[in-house]
Amino acid sequence: MLSYRHAFHAGNAPDVLKHGVLIFCLEYLKKKEKALLCIDTHGGAGYYDLTEGYAAQNREWEQGITPLLKEAPLTLPPLARSLVTVVREFNPPGDPAAGIKRYPGSPAIIAALLREQDRGICFELHPADSTLLQKRLPRLEVRREDGLAALKALLPPPSRRALVFIDPSYEMKDDYWILPEAVKDALGRFSSGCYLIWYPLLGRKGHFPPGESTGLPERLWSLYGGNRLRVELYTGQGISGTRGLYGSGLIIYNPPWPLKEALEESLPLLSRLLGGSKRSEKGYGWDLL
Ligand code: SAM
Repeated sequence: MLSYRHAFHAGNAPDVLKHGVLIFCLEYLKKKEKALLCIDTHGGAGYYDLTEGYAAQNREWEQGITPLLKEAPLTLPPLARSLVTVVREFNPPGDPAAGIKRYPGSPAIIAALLREQDRGICFELHPADSTLLQKRLPRLEVRREDGLAALKALLPPPSRRALVFIDPSYEMKDDYWILPEAVKDALGRFSSGCYLIWYPLLGRKGHFPPGESTGLPERLWSLYGGNRLRVELYTGQGISGTRGLYGSGLIIYNPPWPLKEALEESLPLLSRLLGGSKRSEKGYGWDLL
């Protein structure tokens, strides 16, 4: 079942969190000259036109990237500022007060930030989106294959330096079990890589019954005893809210050391701008472990 289309959600609050962290990690890893392999296991369509099609229907970016774009760039903490810079550079120059027309997905971000010596590989199973991805981002190697299964053949990379971005659509219940298995295998092959794994926080009447999604972060957390971070940003209805996504999180193995501090600095602002008055039952807008 491949009915998920990321265009509906482009630039929303979970995108802001995951893409802000992705940019931070890529920029940090580029401080070393040695070649970096960047794998995007679930690529989507690469980037999204916000003025037409699916993205224009839900307009989720209005509660995501838009509030950040309205802030004076120098007042933004580093993680948010880098994201705003990348998003602005991805759009034609114009009046900064005017809204953006395109939002870069993870493949466009990776393509923009990789250097000549680096390699970017992007997986996407949906036929239409993988065709778009291939056409739009020739800088990347695009493969219409299962991105999680493909990790086996790619890790460890010859340069021993890799960032693996894992951003599934969680359309099927099995995804919550297949994912940790694939990650465990990848860690067995290459435990020193930087892994970013995104997960949704779903309310009681979310896509699956309670319990289906809630064990995932704990399972992922327990897979690796080394340097790791877990960040969650609550941006929607509380845990007892009626339905849908009330936030999202990331598990990061081997994060660059300044990432924790950057998140501590950025989360209050992200929570204020993206959470609005809808707070989680926990009484605060984020969690960082
Ligand atoms: N990472 C993208 C971004 O940040 O812009 C968004 C990706 S979207 C959340 C997930 C994508 O994964 C969907 O386009 C879906 O078609 C694709 N997909 C689902 N299962 C997959 C798999 N096993 N391998 C590769 N792609 C898959």
